[in-house]
Amino acid sequence: MSPFDLTPPTAVQRETLVAGLSPDERRVLLQHGTEAPFCGVFLDNRREGVYGCRLCGLPLFRSSTKFDSGTGWPSFFAPYDESHIRRVRDTSHGMIRVEVVCARCESHLGHVFPDGPPPTFERHCLNSVSLSFTGDGEALPDPLGRGETIA
Ligand SMILES: [Zn+2]
Repeated sequence: MSPFDLTPPTAVQRETLVAGLSPDERRVLLQHGTEAPFCGVFLDNRREGVYGCRLCGLPLFRSSTKFDSGTGWPSFFAPYDESHIRRVRDTSHGMIRVEVVCARCESHLGHVFPDGPPPTFERHCLNSVSLSFTGDGEALPDPLGRGETIA
């Protein structure tokens, strides 16, 4: 079980966090947008650490599961913890896809496809703007003030 508190942010917390987002972050996280390929800041990030939710700080993916998918978006073959993401059927744009959202704040992260590498054969295709990165040994962001600073 995840040691993180998955209770959603309060309405006041959410308002404060949303106010701190850039227009690009709002478009992707809150309005299911997609950033242009090969532009995201984390595409070529090779540092060891944890990728968390840009809005609420929940750890979502580990650098150890990141792989180069060639698609132009940061890609991972497994989530940090299955309980930290939620999979939602997405039928927009004439396609049937599985959307991945943050299990705690429901922000849009990206999509998951069944063509990844072993052992999961999943490809979690993420938007860099949906993520924040914390290097190994650094304190996690704690925007909800829950004292969850160690991954
Ligand atoms: Zn979140």
